[in-house]
Amino acid sequence: MIALHVGGTFIRGCVLGPDGSPRVGERWFTRPERGPDAVVESVLAAAASLAARCRPLAAGVALPGVVDETSGRAVRATALGWHRIPVRDWVAEHLDLPVAVGHDGRTGGLAEARAGAGGDCRNFLYVSVGDDFAAAPVVDGRAGPGEDGGAGEFGHVVVRPEGGDRCHCGRHGCLETVASTTAVTRRYARTTGWRGVTAREVYHRADAGDPHARAICTDAVDALVGALATEIRRHAPERVVIAGEPGEAGPSGLTSLRATLAGHLASPAVPELRLARFGEMAACVGAAYLARDMVTEAELRPGRS
Ligand SMILES: [Zn+2]
Repeated sequence: MIALHVGGTFIRGCVLGPDGSPRVGERWFTRPERGPDAVVESVLAAAASLAARCRPLAAGVALPGVVDETSGRAVRATALGWHRIPVRDWVAEHLDLPVAVGHDGRTGGLAEARAGAGGDCRNFLYVSVGDDFAAAPVVDGRAGPGEDGGAGEFGHVVVRPEGGDRCHCGRHGCLETVASTTAVTRRYARTTGWRGVTAREVYHRADAGDPHARAICTDAVDALVGALATEIRRHAPERVVIAGEPGEAGPSGLTSLRATLAGHLASPAVPELRLARFGEMAACVGAAYLARDMVTEAELRPGRS
């Protein structure tokens, strides 16, 4: 099995071995500013490159935005500039393989439910942060695609309605415009004139006492926590599984996230927070599981994956 997760910053790819474990992780820049057709070409090229390394039986694709999983279409993925793109059909034709398509929140939740940090939990909330935002409630191992196929569009919750930056979705002040790695880098450059400083470095500078970095990072974490608190109130999960690095700081970021969340949530109590086992690859691994589910045991012969 091979799978891709097409995000606004990176296209991530993985190969799933016959034993179900992900073996190869790779990523390519999406560069959506080149236009929707160029992104499609990049996706097809990435898929072909992965398929050339093994003899896959099927492929999976995880997509952001509003996804019609039945027809395999990207209905609306503003991060990619896509509108009504028949992803499943085009990838299937390019690879001559069966292809499954899923929303990236749902596939990330599926991966963590099946083999990750939600495996022993009946009811958890999967959240991805960093350069791709998504959230999906997972109950009894099943991650809901959401009423609109977009699993809530977590990155486009408006958190700064007054004077927020314009988002690619057309609104102003979406969570992504405040808290994504791209936003942190952009806002730091705008404030200080230092271009190309990564979000991780901005967080380090905040820890080291840089007041501009501190203001931007505090705003980013506050925005994330506010949006997260809303999701927790809505779904009352036992656990929140976080893919990506909250505050770009790994486990210590989780501790400060928990403390900030406690200030937002009087009731219900703050659920357990855990980092996703598959990290930034969770949505990609889940897409590989969707592909795996299309294949019968008899087809899984030695030498095929
Ligand atoms: Zn938006």
